Amino acid sequence: MHATFPLGRPAGIRVGAHWSVLLIMALLAEFLAQSILPEAVPGQPALVYWATGIAGAVVLLASLLVHELSHALVARHRGLTVDRITLWLLGGSTEVPDDPPTPRSAFAVAVAGPLASLLAGAGFLGLSRLFSGAVPAVVVVTVGWLGWTNLVLAVFNLLPGAPLDGGRILQAVVWKLTGDKRRAQAAAARSGRVLGLMLSVAGLVELLWFGSFAGLWLVGIGWFLGFSARAELAAGPAREVLSRIALGEIMTPDPVTAPGWFTVQGFVEQAASGRFRTYPVVTFDGRPVGVVSLSALARVPDTARTSTRVENVCVRPPGCLVAAPDVPLTTVLSRFGNRPGQDLVLVVEDGVLVGVVSPGDIARTLELAVLGAEAHRERPRRA
Ligand SMILES: [Zn+2]
Repeated sequence: MHATFPLGRPAGIRVGAHWSVLLIMALLAEFLAQSILPEAVPGQPALVYWATGIAGAVVLLASLLVHELSHALVARHRGLTVDRITLWLLGGSTEVPDDPPTPRSAFAVAVAGPLASLLAGAGFLGLSRLFSGAVPAVVVVTVGWLGWTNLVLAVFNLLPGAPLDGGRILQAVVWKLTGDKRRAQAAAARSGRVLGLMLSVAGLVELLWFGSFAGLWLVGIGWFLGFSARAELAAGPAREVLSRIALGEIMTPDPVTAPGWFTVQGFVEQAASGRFRTYPVVTFDGRPVGVVSLSALARVPDTARTSTRVENVCVRPPGCLVAAPDVPLTTVLSRFGNRPGQDLVLVVEDGVLVGVVSPGDIARTLELAVLGAEAHRERPRRA
């Protein structure tokens, strides 16, 4: 998702928010300050309603983050890589590039979020009881609202259709029962389409029959759900093809390398006659150390170019991607191009650089997969 701003790194996991979060926060604060609070506790100054409303919206956003962090922490505990969490208009998303290896781990990761929301909901409702009479009534009402909202979020997320958590749970169960992961994915995606359609119809009925504009919201959510489920269903066969392709089959063998011991100035003269923008960097004895791009070289000040070595400006692992030739393409695909230095995968076997996979190699493979053909490049035989 683009246009995000960073919110920090709780537990070492990058968290960002899409600008649409500001919209939903404003709507929630307004809802609390203009409807819920004045109705429940009349006669307070507008400032009190607004201050409490804004605080309530911020705490709700924090509980959304707790939901996503629970997914992320369980995924990490199960040995999966967690890229980042993004909060946006309809909640949050946790990016886990690796597919869970077993139905059990898929189930655990999926169920963690709704479980956290259920616990948060119960906790807030308990607190509102405890606070009753001891703190101002607007606070009690807001904490109670946080409790119910978290419970509603938990139940909504448990609806059994991908990409909702309930869909992932359904997928894990079908996978466990049939032993067929692809079939389980397709079943969860189909269920997500039906669910999206049902929500949209319910929203339309609410809008047209009861004249409630909240129905419009439901139509939007239903449409988004159906759209995502359809995309997952369509991506299934291509993903299947890609998961069978190993990096060694699509890599560019024997790539042009940047000698790490060269000065920046010395390598720039060599690169000027080349046709690449990114290079794998190797040591004098041929060991790969990282990736360097022309833009990284351009950031070295003129005066330092004759004294700085290429190996001192290159991006090293884990900043750049290094993988063995037999690693499936799908494993690196989603991590590709996220950070500088990540637009080239170094394919390394027994400590030796045997090839690179560039955005061009991947685009070619994807296009061939869409055309129903498989990319194949004979691996060079090494003596
Ligand atoms: Zn979730």
